[in-house]
Amino acid sequence: MPEYNVNELERLIDGDLPWTRVQEIMKSPKDGSRFQKWVQILQSRVPWEERILLPLTPHLYVVERAGGERVVKCTCGQEFGDYRVNWKLSALIHVRDSEKELGKIYRGSEMPEAEWVQVREYYCPGCGNQLEVEAVPRGCPPDFEFLPDLDTFYSEWLGQPLDRKVEFADKTLDTVRGWQA
Ligand SMILES: [Zn+2]
Repeated sequence: MPEYNVNELERLIDGDLPWTRVQEIMKSPKDGSRFQKWVQILQSRVPWEERILLPLTPHLYVVERAGGERVVKCTCGQEFGDYRVNWKLSALIHVRDSEKELGKIYRGSEMPEAEWVQVREYYCPGCGNQLEVEAVPRGCPPDFEFLPDLDTFYSEWLGQPLDRKVEFADKTLDTVRGWQA
C-alpha cells in the first residue's frame, strides 16, 4: 500500500498539490495510516490541546476532553457541547426567508419560493466564522448532518479502540426537551 509523507498530505489539505498528483492519490489504494496522519496535521494547526477524534467541517472538530467527554469544538476554541447533540443548537443563526434576503444569494430561476424555503446560515459565537449553510423547508428542524459512531470507527476501522466508550445515540431532542422544562 502506498504511503504518503506528511508534507505531501499537508499540501493536499491546503490545495497546493498538483492535480496530476491528486489524481494519482485518488486512484491508488488508500494508505491505512492516512487518517491518523491527516488528524496529526490538523492537530498541529489548532491552538488547543484536546485530542481531535474527527474533523466535521473546516472549522469544527469532535474532540476528547481531559475528562473523557466528546464535544464539538471550533478552531478558535469555542465549544458546542456533546457531539451527540446537533452543534447547530449552540451556533448563531442568520435566517434568510424573504424574497429580498434570498435575492442576495440566488439569481433568476434558481431562486426558491420564499414562502416555502428558508436559508439558514450558522456562525461560530467565538470567531464569527460561517460554519454551515442549509436551504430547508420552513419549519424543518436544523439538519443534523453527521453523527459519527466513533467507537465503531476507531475499533473496527482503525483498529485502535478509544479508551472510554460512550453511548452512540442522537441526544439532540433531549436537549430541546430540557429547554421546555
Ligand atoms: Zn470559532
